[in-house]
Amino acid sequence: MTGSENGSRGDEDKSGSGGLQMEPQRFELNAPGDFYVEDGMCIACEAPEHEAPDLMGHYSDDSVCYHCYFKRQPETPEELDRAIRAVEVGCCGAVRYGDRDPGIIRRLNKWAADACDHGWKS
Ligand code: SF4
Repeated sequence: MTGSENGSRGDEDKSGSGGLQMEPQRFELNAPGDFYVEDGMCIACEAPEHEAPDLMGHYSDDSVCYHCYFKRQPETPEELDRAIRAVEVGCCGAVRYGDRDPGIIRRLNKWAADACDHGWKS
């Protein structure tokens, strides 16, 4: 069963793995890397794509009416700023940061602490 089928946010241990947290299921069209959109959570707010149109796109067909994703990862400081803004404005919490850079986590902690897979709350 995928994250979209069971609605799992991935932050609960239902695996019997002794407390290890599962990372959210990534939408399959995300470019590999640190920023991604979780599978199956989209309600088509379009806000992240508006903030980072060079980094994000959306997919739609008969079965998936709309789903945003990172079509590429940020490579410059300006693109990183836009990627962080995209995470911050995501209305559903599905636009996420999956790595452990403390500077990025610190920035996301201000408005989007729950969007960090390996974050901490100050
Ligand atoms: S932030 Fe959430 S609801 Fe908004 S477009 Fe992206 S996945 Fe969809």
